[in-house]
Amino acid sequence: MSSAAADTIVLKNGERITAETVTDDGAHVTYLTPAGQLSLPKSIVARIEKDDFMYSSAAHSSEPPVSAPEIEPVRGYEDVAALAVHDNQIDFGYIARLESDAHSGGAAGIARVAAAHHAAAQFLLSKGDTNTAMDHYREALSFAPDNAGLLLNLAVLYLRQSQFTAALDPLERARRLQPDSADVAKLMGWAYYGANKMDRAIEEWQRALKLRPDAEVKAALEKAQRDKAEEESYREGETAHFDLKYNGSATPDLARGILRVLEDDFRDLESQLDYTPHEQIGVILYTQQAFADITRAPGWVGALNDGRLRIPVQGLSSVTPELARVLKHELTHSFVGQKSRNRAPTWLQEGVAQFMEGRRSTSTASALVAAANQGAMPPLGAFEGPWMSLDGNAAAFAYAWSLAVVESIADSGGVSDISRLLDRVGTAPSTEAAAKEVLHSDYADLQQQTISYLKHAYLR
Ligand SMILES: [Zn+2]
Repeated sequence: MSSAAADTIVLKNGERITAETVTDDGAHVTYLTPAGQLSLPKSIVARIEKDDFMYSSAAHSSEPPVSAPEIEPVRGYEDVAALAVHDNQIDFGYIARLESDAHSGGAAGIARVAAAHHAAAQFLLSKGDTNTAMDHYREALSFAPDNAGLLLNLAVLYLRQSQFTAALDPLERARRLQPDSADVAKLMGWAYYGANKMDRAIEEWQRALKLRPDAEVKAALEKAQRDKAEEESYREGETAHFDLKYNGSATPDLARGILRVLEDDFRDLESQLDYTPHEQIGVILYTQQAFADITRAPGWVGALNDGRLRIPVQGLSSVTPELARVLKHELTHSFVGQKSRNRAPTWLQEGVAQFMEGRRSTSTASALVAAANQGAMPPLGAFEGPWMSLDGNAAAFAYAWSLAVVESIADSGGVSDISRLLDRVGTAPSTEAAAKEVLHSDYADLQQQTISYLKHAYLR
């Protein structure tokens, strides 16, 4: 967790982004995340919540999330209270006599002792002497261990001193005595919140609200729920081959699922492409908007690999078949990039990535063959550079054609031909030169071969 102050950018669609160093130039909101600097158009931002409390808890630990309820340990003993504290001092002699009577007496004697110590403690608190006030509650509890009011008052004093774990002891004892006490739940929520156990705090405040409506508890609950989401949005996960960061609203379950799938994919690609990447591969999960802004990719781009796998996962809670394909596709780019020493052209990159994700030319074969028949097929060399400037239709064509070419290579020589081609691309003067060496085909040959393959495999 960062020690710097964090703000929350609330988008108009309800999405919340926790970020450091948020700036607003009127047209854009720019902020820093573990993934780098991001920029959002101002038009989609509802507001920015300046909120530093969970990141700099020291400055705010004295501000309780909820107020302490006023609880009288016993009722109807105002006369005892007046005798225990008078003339601006505690009458210790009176309290000693009450204690002595209580040793030999019944419930009323014990109640008087509780009332007297409570009065003394409240008087000391008004003077700012919390420690001695706590001693009075402990003393009273030695006479009346089952007085939930005394336990709650003692717990409040622990809470006010940020002794959250110590507060749980009297609170748990009070809960055994009064399982349905809204005050117990409210204060337990405070204890867990202070101890940074958001799940438990949320649980207790939800319980408190069920027992008794309380606007203050409701507000504290909502805040705790936001904190929890923010904490989760910056968690990390790590496996042997991957280092995963969440950016946005991904869930831990989803992150774990993604890492499991990626490890399986890793082993599969390792054996198919006969290659093992040397470095741990970075993976970042994005909400859709953050992804579009960080990547500045055209709308048709679903995910990216620029050394790290950048995967939009908005609205997903588990690895769907679609997401699994995206993961395999993007991971393939890492293998292809490293194996070819980052010299594989775009058509080869995207062709192999689609092939490995399991895509085939079933639905595109006839359109590709028709384009070739009309002489409208650009040479393969036209698909070597970046595709980011292509519009959606041109990009769809480029993807389809690249897949078809790679499919035909695999069909004629097996995946091992693709593996050897990637190795050679890393050292050959050009991809076409590597193709000539490994496949004995230049680009024109590959185009011919691919059209024949499509006709044979799909158009009979
Ligand atoms: Zn791709």
